[in-house]
Amino acid sequence: MSRAGRRATLLVVLLALLAGCSSAAAPAPVEPVRPVPAGTTVVTGPPAAGRDTSCGDPRVSLTPTPPPAPGAMPPGSTMAAIVARGALIVGVDQSTVPLSYRDPRTGELTGLDVDVAREMARAILGDPQRVRFRIESSAQRIPNLLDGSVDLVVQAMTITCDRKRQVGLSAPYYEAAQRLVVPRTSPVTGIADLGGRPVCAPLGTTSIATLQNSRGADGRPPVVVGVPENSDCLVLLQQGQVDAATTDDAILTGFALEDPRLEVRGAALDAEPYGIAVAPGATDLLRFVNGSLDRLRADGTLARIATSTVGSPAAVPAVAAYAG
Ligand code: GLU
Repeated sequence: MSRAGRRATLLVVLLALLAGCSSAAAPAPVEPVRPVPAGTTVVTGPPAAGRDTSCGDPRVSLTPTPPPAPGAMPPGSTMAAIVARGALIVGVDQSTVPLSYRDPRTGELTGLDVDVAREMARAILGDPQRVRFRIESSAQRIPNLLDGSVDLVVQAMTITCDRKRQVGLSAPYYEAAQRLVVPRTSPVTGIADLGGRPVCAPLGTTSIATLQNSRGADGRPPVVVGVPENSDCLVLLQQGQVDAATTDDAILTGFALEDPRLEVRGAALDAEPYGIAVAPGATDLLRFVNGSLDRLRADGTLARIATSTVGSPAAVPAVAAYAG
């Protein structure tokens, strides 16, 4: 044990002794104060529209262009404007283990999404450090692309037909699935057990839409508790204010890593292929991103990133499909 650790242990022992000396009576019970995270809302009203499949397989993206070498971007292109600025601006989260979070030892952002974003900076600017991260919630992903605050979003963003009508989305770099996370001691085995029960999901996500459309075995919907940040669901679970939380398995595995009393459980509720998003008009950037992802897939970089962050390369797709 370090010297600081020994001192802390000593302090705890001293405090315990002092507490024991000062009063023989049991301390008065104190009702714990449990404020919910800011922005927590119970989502009511009509169920959300189901997952839109009108575009066919949403994973099919625009045919890539072979990416030019860094520093040789076509004049007038979106990539040339990024090079002129000197940095790529990428929207990410900062508290989602193991996708995008601060390494407590270094204070640096790290994780699967962060590493993929750095590879895009390397492809455009020749330097993985030339990226400015803009921290955003899940619900801010599309608005920040539409108003030009970010060049790319690399943030557990599921490729859907509905989103492809609003922004550009690359071929998948990771295939997640929506699941549930519950305390290990919970009897819940799946969504069927959660009719009328409080279940947390992040606002502005595919996860909350799927939850709104789900029913327990008793025919009742769950009580849908929406929160701004993924990590807010972890807090509500730890506080015992919800029976379960639901979003992508990649994110829920992070909850269980942060709190081993939790466990990912039940069948997949939906497929969640992650794509890199760009502003709607930036088709040159989208083709460039697809070409860069092809290279990262072919040379094993994507598999290596997945192994070092989520622990396995199994969810990295082997091939991509393109049209147009
Ligand atoms: N993949 C889901 C989505 O794109 C959930 C993301 C999240 O919880 O951050 O909406």
